[in-house]
Amino acid sequence: MAEFTVDRAAAWLSDYARQISRHASELTELDRQIGDADHGSNMDRGMQAVTAIDAHESTSAAEYLKKVAMALLSNVGGAAGPLYGTFFLRFAASLPATDAELTAQQLAAAFRAGVDGVQQRGKAERGDKTMVDALLPAVEALETTAKQGVRPALAAAATSAELGRLATVPMLARKGRASYLGERSIGHQDPGATSAAMLIESATRTLG
Ligand code: ADP
Ligand code: MG
Repeated sequence: MAEFTVDRAAAWLSDYARQISRHASELTELDRQIGDADHGSNMDRGMQAVTAIDAHESTSAAEYLKKVAMALLSNVGGAAGPLYGTFFLRFAASLPATDAELTAQQLAAAFRAGVDGVQQRGKAERGDKTMVDALLPAVEALETTAKQGVRPALAAAATSAELGRLATVPMLARKGRASYLGERSIGHQDPGATSAAMLIESATRTLG
């Protein structure tokens, strides 16, 4: 792939910020069905803080993405903030300290590290109706298609994340606020899986 630079990472996050802002009311509406109607506004506030980071003050993508993580940790609030924050902290930690050309395998390893962090922090397994249900299939697709190169691997990841997001509809929520609803959580798409699929989609648009 092209080098995974500060600019590349910033392009990813600014694409994601645009998606979040465009879909904030949709995310909040999903959260109204099975949560407390704040996921869109939480994410939008966090991504505005991310957008305010001056990427050029960082000397590497790793350094920039650590700042992204901190901005999400301190601005998103709710369950999703610490989880997305952890995703980017771990993702950043798995990158080389100075910008370099990344293979699809290395990119997959960074996403895997991020998702491992989300699962360690939130204890959600596949099928619990959370962001993990979009993130895990995406990482698995990256890993299994990595030998085809970055672009096809990211395309496969986006498709898998979309399918993962849709697959949350019939699930019973077992983690987070939606789990308080028990059976009534069935039949609604998980807001966090929706924002997570957007993150992968943005990666596909900007990192390929
Ligand atoms: P809150 O639930 O605190 O209001 P948000 O509405 O911003 O936070 O985010 C809700 C989303 O967070 C859920 O849709 C779900 O995807 C995700 N989530 C909640 N708890 C967990 C968890 N333990 N592990 C993974 N994701 C979780
Ligand atoms: Mg909420």
